[in-house]
Amino acid sequence: MRIVLLGAPGSGKGTQSQRLVERLGIPQISTGDLLRAAVARGSELGLQAKEAMDAGRLVEDSLVLGMIAERLREPDARRGFILDGFPRNLAQAHALERLLESLRQPLDAVVQLEVDSRELVRRISGRRSCADCGRVFNLLTSPPAGAGAVCPKTGSPHRLVQRPDDNEATVTERLRVYDEKTRPLIEFYRARGLLQVIDAEGALDEVTRRLAQALHAPALRTPRRPVRRGARAKAKPARKKQAKRKSATRTVRARSAAKRSRARRTAAAPRGKSSARAASRSRGTRRRR
Ligand code: ADP
Repeated sequence: MRIVLLGAPGSGKGTQSQRLVERLGIPQISTGDLLRAAVARGSELGLQAKEAMDAGRLVEDSLVLGMIAERLREPDARRGFILDGFPRNLAQAHALERLLESLRQPLDAVVQLEVDSRELVRRISGRRSCADCGRVFNLLTSPPAGAGAVCPKTGSPHRLVQRPDDNEATVTERLRVYDEKTRPLIEFYRARGLLQVIDAEGALDEVTRRLAQALHAPALRTPRRPVRRGARAKAKPARKKQAKRKSATRTVRARSAAKRSRARRTAAAPRGKSSARAASRSRGTRRRR
């Protein structure tokens, strides 16, 4: 499936994309993540993108488009993909359309995640990620607790950091830019018959369920789980029972077949005097009547 997730910053595109990745087995392509990685590497592209990102503005189309064209040509994207944070304006949407046409991979669906603006600000201000493993938490809604408290990379507690652009001033600008540049994409995709809108407030699982429904993806209802080690062993008694039932059926069938053939043999055997007499008596009775 080729999917675009649309939604304001903090609407849960990243979190829900990760859930789709697990269940559909297709990659998440997040321009925000790709740009942050470029910044962290200190590449030319990263240096050019950093200023706009820190200010909450959009990075130049040419940079983002070059990056996305390269990513969509990678082999894992042939099975499908989830675009998260791209396209973000009409020019990008048109460019994506042309690119996917040339790759003969048109979009299957665009889902808009709707969240009230006050809730967006609340979510973004609580957002933290682990500096070591990259896992995203929310201090208000999903803080690291229990098994999630230990970082799988270091074996120590997660080192929580806040994204530099998650500060109040930048968030306000990002929300403004979203309304001005990205919101028009809702109509763009509605006109193409691709748009689905879902309510993205509420429990994470509930939003995933709505997303699955919008995508007509039944596989999303039951996450793909690797076969457990004990699963085979547990299945055995059931198989044994079935085999037992089968052999019991076979025995019953064999018994009744033997009965039938005995009956046939008796019927075909020459009749004795008494049975012949009984037969003639019964014929006579019938005749007299
Ligand atoms: P969010 O959606 O939560 O605001 P992202 O991680 O998607 O955050 O993006 C972070 C920043 O990266 C954006 O504020 C913007 O500066 C830049 N960016 C991401 N995607 C694009 C894009 N498609 N076009 C231009 N800039 C982008």
